[in-house]
Order: sequence, then structure tokens, then C-alpha cells
Amino acid sequence: MAEAAVKAKEAAPDAQAELTDGFHLVIDALKLNGINTIYGVPGIPITDLGRMAQAAGMRVISFRHEQNAGNAAAIAGFLTKKPGVCLTVSAPGFLNGLTAPANATTNCFPMIMVSGSSEREVVDLQQGDYEEMDQLAVAKPLCKAAFRVLHAADIGIGVARAIRAAVSGRPGGVYLDLPAKLFAQVIDAAAGQKSLVKVIDAAPAQMPAPAAVKRALEVLKSAKRPLIILGKGAAYAQADDAIRTFVEKTGMPFLPMSMAKGLLPDTHPQCAGAARSTVLKDSDVVMLVGARLNWLLSHGKGKTWGEPGSKKFVQIDIDPKEMDSNVGIVAPLVGDIGSCLTALLEAMDSKWPAAPADWTGAINTKREENVSKMASRLMKNTAPMDFHGALGALRTVIKERPDAILVNEGANTLDLARGVIDMYKPRKRLDVGTWGVMGIGMGFAIAAAIETGKPVLAVEGDSAFGFSGMEVETICRYGLPVCIVVFNNDGIYRGTDVNAGGGSDPATTVFVKGSRYDKVIEAFGGIGVNVTTPDELKRAVDAAMDSGKPTLINAVIDPAAGSESGRIGNLNPQSVLRKK
Ligand code: ADP
Ligand code: MG
Repeated sequence: MAEAAVKAKEAAPDAQAELTDGFHLVIDALKLNGINTIYGVPGIPITDLGRMAQAAGMRVISFRHEQNAGNAAAIAGFLTKKPGVCLTVSAPGFLNGLTAPANATTNCFPMIMVSGSSEREVVDLQQGDYEEMDQLAVAKPLCKAAFRVLHAADIGIGVARAIRAAVSGRPGGVYLDLPAKLFAQVIDAAAGQKSLVKVIDAAPAQMPAPAAVKRALEVLKSAKRPLIILGKGAAYAQADDAIRTFVEKTGMPFLPMSMAKGLLPDTHPQCAGAARSTVLKDSDVVMLVGARLNWLLSHGKGKTWGEPGSKKFVQIDIDPKEMDSNVGIVAPLVGDIGSCLTALLEAMDSKWPAAPADWTGAINTKREENVSKMASRLMKNTAPMDFHGALGALRTVIKERPDAILVNEGANTLDLARGVIDMYKPRKRLDVGTWGVMGIGMGFAIAAAIETGKPVLAVEGDSAFGFSGMEVETICRYGLPVCIVVFNNDGIYRGTDVNAGGGSDPATTVFVKGSRYDKVIEAFGGIGVNVTTPDELKRAVDAAMDSGKPTLINAVIDPAAGSESGRIGNLNPQSVLRKK
């Protein structure tokens, strides 16, 4: 509807005509597009939006901090391929939430952060409104896309654009700015309904070019020491059958990136997870499937990758700009992973050569060596626990309950759990992702429980837990089947640092000694357990998973057990001039 008509309608709404308003149109537009859950924090000007969404049958999950609601929306997007929606108040709430769409964009998760904002007329003249901020301008450089809707009649288009931007191509975080005045704008109900858009084929399949398929197969066929690296793009794509068929038909060893673990079981005979350094160094052809050659893969070069020039890379990615980002890609396959793998499978000869036996044999030897080296460490049943002992118990839990979702963050807690805990099914491991960001824990755990209905095990460093810990109240309020295990080693990396200045303040990386995180959840009616041995830990987690009741287990870890920055100490500059 033209602006003049909207104004006329607002001024003198026809007493007979049915009316609708911005609140209703936002809710109707989301529902029309199959979005039935909102993660948010209520407040001005979106309090009524949450209430009305709930009244309209949507699931509205209220958090204690916007960043956690945003993280929940982001991982909901990863798990479902539909944009997760996060709702926040203006300026400070918006900024609290903004980390989430920025992180979602970095990780290629589709989400939409919807924030109420203050009046444009006042904000743009900087006249000092309540929570004044030009939120659209702030969001733009950090999100995949950002939009603002000023007229109720444009809400349908605004929501449609946000959805399409979030899920099409490389997915990402989208910001949708809704000024307070918009919500109360009244328009004719029939016109309002007509203005809504049901997005058709929001993320269209993208077929690779036949010549690119042929080129990729030629390179793969020439390989003497091939390797497939599966990334979280492959997990996101939900092309699980095509991935398994391709991997098994080629017989090539595969290496899952963290959140791609379980696409094929970590116990699969072709899984090279336990021979990671060997396969990275010695492979000659590497096929990347929804994985980027970023810092997590040492940018495809350097010591990790063996002799310079010893590799050829084949890459499947939906984003053409990803190709050649770190090293030259000899066979780029641009398209969605399902379409690309299907095309490869169709173009492959029925008698594809088996992967060379000397190569697969060498990997198996290495893998068995590494697995047996670790085995005894995982069975250590001591008090206090070390990381391996505690993780050995949790590894058995996931083996016995492969449907459970594992959320994982921390430093040592993250790095060691990633290697120790085998995954058996796709999209069951959710963690800190591309940024290695702390604070995703409770947001991810809540959304995982809501979106999948499956039990969630959140394995948290004591420091990492602190970033979103207040959401245990949210977990208790909604009665979610989430079991949190806090690996409590009294601090960041370790609990043993002392103040280098000799003063009475504690060192910068230590926390209160002997803290009892289990008491935190008890304050909200959840179950708290304190454990000191792997056996106790296993029993407590099993009880929590059986009951489905919100549980927090304080797992006492030896304060001296961790190492600085876990596995990424090389990224942490340390002064050679520091006085010990
Ligand atoms: P990891 O950290 O597991 O290596 P990354 O996040 O680095 O994974 O890489 C994921 C890649 O997957 C991104 O480059 C992204 O463009 C790509 N991607 C995401 N979804 C799809 C899809 N459906 N089809 C193809 N590529 C995808
Ligand atoms: Mg710690």
C-alpha cells in the first residue's frame, strides 16, 4: 500500500473494515514461512510481540541475555536449514545480541535477528531518544544482510528478504530492524494478508557445471594418497546419504572437522580422525567438502601439510569466492553439496579404482597406534580427575546414547573432548566453530533440545560455562532435557596460577577454588551433583539422561591438569621478557 494510503487509514480507519497491525503482520509473516519458534529477551518495544506470538501458537523462548538467545537461533538454523529467529530490544539489547548473527555469518549458519529500534526521526537527528542507536548501520558490516521496515504494508517483503538472505547460497546471519512505531501501525486486514510473501524455494539447489565434475573426477582418479575432509557445510547440507555413498564407493580415507563428526561414524573403518597429522602431511589429493582452508586447517600450507606443492586440492563449496582463498584449487566444484556429490556419483565409472592399499594400510596402522596409546589414559579412575579420565566416561555415554546431542566449549575441555568423544550420527556435535568463541554453550544446548527433542549433554569448561551460565534458569523454567557437565579445574587453562605481582589479588586466570557450580542449578529447582571420579561422573550423567531433568554436574578436575590455551597455544603470544 502506498504511504499516503497507509497514513489515511491510520488517521481514519474505516469502522466497518477489519484491521491488522504491525505486530500481527510480523507474526503472520513468520508463521506463513514455517517459522514457529522465537528465541529472545522481552522488553521495549517488543514485549507485546513476544506475548502475541505465544498467543498465536508460536513457541517463544525467553532468555536472560540476548547473546544466548541469538546463539540459540543460530544453531537452530544449522540444525534445521530454516533461519532461527532471535528477538531483542533496542540499542543495548541489540548490541548484546549482535555477536550471534556476526558469529552465525562466520560459521555459515542461517539466522535472523529481529530488533525493535527507536524512532527514526529522533535517532537520525541524534536528539537523544530512549535507547537511541542507528542499529541498521551498526549491523550492516557484521551481518550477511541487513534490512529495515518502515511501513506495515512492507513487513511481508521485509521478512521474505530476510529469510532468503539467511538461507540462500552460503547461509549467514541477517539483521531485521523494526522501529517501535511500526508495530502499532494499523492497516486494512485484507490488504495486510495480501502483502505477505510465502518464500518459494528459499535455498535453490545449485548444480555444478558438468565440466567441473569431469575435472574433479580426473584429479581424484589420479590420486595415490587421497583424503576427503568433511566440514560443517557438509553437515549443514543434510546430504548424509550422498556423502556416505561417495566416501564408501571411493574407499578414500576421510577426516571430519569438528562439527562434521558423525556424518559417518568416527568408528568407520575409513575414518582417519585418529591419524590426522599423518593424512594431512602425506596425502597427495585432498577433497574439501564444505570445509574451508582457514586457520583450523593451517590455511592449507606449512609444516602440517608436508612438502610445499605436494598436494592438489579439489573443493566443493556453495560460495565461488571460497575457491583459491588460501591455496590454489585445481578442481573447484561450485554448488550445493548434495547436488555436487550426486553429480560426481552419476559421472563415476562403475569400476572406480580402490584407494591404494599401501596408503589405507599406513593410515590404519597409525590409527591403531594412536587409539591404543590413548586407551589407558581414558580408563584412569582417579580423584581428582584429569581431562582424559573424565572424558573417557563421557565417551562411553555418547557411545551408549548416540542420539544425544553433544555441546562442547572450553579450552582443554574442548580440544580434548573433540578427539576423545566419538560421534556416530550427523549434526550431533555442536561447538565453538570457526571463531572458537566462548559463550555458545547454554544457547546451543537450549535450542538443540527445543529443535530436536533429544537429550543434550553440554560439556563445559568452568570458564566457558560462565559466559552463559545464567541460562540454567531458562533450562529449568522450560524443563529441558539438558545435562551440563562443568569441568571444574579452578580456572582458565589451569587453576594453579599465582599473581605475578605478589599482591593479594588472585592471578588473572584463576577462579574461586573448590567452587560448586552444581549449587547454581539447585537455586532454580534443577538437579545438582558434585563428582570427583569418572565412575561417579558416568553414573550422574546416565541418571540425568534417563530422567530428562535439568541437571548440572560439577566435575572436579585436577587444577594442574590443563595446558595453556589447550591445543592452540601457538596462537597465544607470550612475552619472552615476562618475569616468572
Ligand atoms: P569447518 O569449520 O567444519 O571446516 P567451515 O565453516 O570452515 O567448516 O566451512 C563450511 C563451508 O561450507 C563454507 O565455505 C560454506 O560456504 C560451505 N557450505 C555451507 N553450506 C553449504 C551447502 N549446502 N553446500 C555447499 N557448501 C556449503
Ligand atoms: Mg577451567
